[in-house]
Amino acid sequence: MNIVDRGFTFSNIASMPAENIDGVIIHHFGAPETYTIASAHRDHSDVRRNSAGISAGIGYNGLVDTDGTKVRGRMFRQGAHARGYNARHFGIATPGNFNNTRPREVVLESMAEFAAWVLKQANLPVNATTVRGHRDVGQTDCPGRNFDMVDFRKRVQKYMGVTNVSAKPTNEPSAWAKATWEKATKAGIVDGNRPQEPVTRQEMAAMFDRAGLLDK
Ligand SMILES: [Zn+2]
Repeated sequence: MNIVDRGFTFSNIASMPAENIDGVIIHHFGAPETYTIASAHRDHSDVRRNSAGISAGIGYNGLVDTDGTKVRGRMFRQGAHARGYNARHFGIATPGNFNNTRPREVVLESMAEFAAWVLKQANLPVNATTVRGHRDVGQTDCPGRNFDMVDFRKRVQKYMGVTNVSAKPTNEPSAWAKATWEKATKAGIVDGNRPQEPVTRQEMAAMFDRAGLLDK
């Protein structure tokens, strides 16, 4: 999964390591799409525009642009997106106002993939606590009436099963499986690579076939 760095800089903010994260909170900007991610970052960086007199930068941890591009926000540093939840929640936002329009398919899918990636970093499952809309935790209609959180969680779930093959590269079987793995490799039933990776249903069918179970 690619998260683009648009060079946004942030002032000194406390870190929020993945193991401290309790969930993801979804936002819309609540403004027409012409109000871009760059506009929002500028407005939260410019001391002349910021009533608090600080220049922390855009308050979301991650963003998805209108074409589905994933963009780095504060990432694993504390956000400023949902009062009372910022220390332990990763905020993902997108331009637009979904009280007036519907989120694009490409945006929903990209936000779901982003959310799934965060949950996997934090070792969390998908449920109504780990994936919430801003309105579920605050006095707001964000991310808009047309943003269906039930449908969104199903989309996130779909991405949870995607194996990150680069996460744990190992070519060693566990001790208890070593002899069987070597036998299966010698018999040509498995290819001898990545013994610790999960198997797909089609790979399993191919293994049954190689083992001679299907030609009876
Ligand atoms: Zn919001």
